Amino acid sequence: QDSQPAFRRILLKLSGEALMGQQSYGVDPDVLAQVAEEVSELSRMGVEVGIVIGGGNIFRGAGLAQGGMDRVTGDHMGMLATVINALALQDAIERAGRFSRVMSAIRINQVCEDYIRRRAVRHLEKGRIVVFAAGTGNPFFTTDSAASLRAIEINADIMIKATKVDGVYDADPMTTKDARRYERLTFDDALEQRLGVMDTTALVMCRDNGLPIRVMNMFAKGDLQRLVMGEAVGTLVEG
Ligand code: UDP
Repeated sequence: QDSQPAFRRILLKLSGEALMGQQSYGVDPDVLAQVAEEVSELSRMGVEVGIVIGGGNIFRGAGLAQGGMDRVTGDHMGMLATVINALALQDAIERAGRFSRVMSAIRINQVCEDYIRRRAVRHLEKGRIVVFAAGTGNPFFTTDSAASLRAIEINADIMIKATKVDGVYDADPMTTKDARRYERLTFDDALEQRLGVMDTTALVMCRDNGLPIRVMNMFAKGDLQRLVMGEAVGTLVEG
C-alpha cells in the first residue's frame, strides 16, 4: 500500500451552483467551509491545488441573454460572478488554515491578483491554493473550458470536475431510474454520445493535450482525498 498521493498537481473545477448548497441563491457558508476544509487537507498532504470556480449560482451569460440582455454583457456579469465566488473561497481556505490567492483573468487589481501563469505556478510550488477567477476572460466560453485551459497551462496531472452527481451516467440519474454510471470513458465516447460531462470545447482541449478528467460528487465526504490517493472514484475520462 502506497500512502503517497497519486498526483503532484491537480486542477479542481467547482461549479458555482454547487456552492449554493440548499440555498436558492448565493453561497452556502457550510458548503463553502466543507469544500475549503477538503482542499486544504489535500494541500497539507503536499498536493499542489489549483481551483477554477464557476459563477452559475449568481449569473450565467446565456440565461441573461435569454431574458434579452446583450450576450457579451451577460458573459461579463457571469465572469464577475466567478470573482465573487473566488473571493469567498479564498477566505474560507484561509480560515481552514492554508494560504490562498485569487488570480483573475480580468484585471481587478484592488481585489485580487491578475492571472500570470508563471506567478500562478510559483504560488502552487509554495503550497498556496490558487483560485482562478473570471474564467478565460473571454465571453462565449465557460468555466469548464477555463478549467481545461488552466489545467493544461499549469501542467496539472489531472482535472477533477466536482459536481452534484458521482460520475458520468448513460442517462440523467436524477430523472432516469436505472441510469448506469461509467467507470471509464474515452474523450471521443463523451463527445459522440453528448454525455454532458463538460462542454465540447473543454473536452476537445483535454483530449488534444492528453489531460485526463475525473468526474466526482463534491458532496461525498472524503471522496476527493480518496481520488487523490489514487482510488477509482467517480468516472475517468481519458484517451
Ligand atoms: N463566462 C465567460 N467566459 C468564461 C467563463 C465564464 O463568459 O471563460 C461566463 C458565462 O456567462 C458563464 C458564467 O461566466 O455562464 C459563469 O460560468 P459557468 O456557467 O461556467 O459557471 P458554473 O456553471 O460552473 O457555475
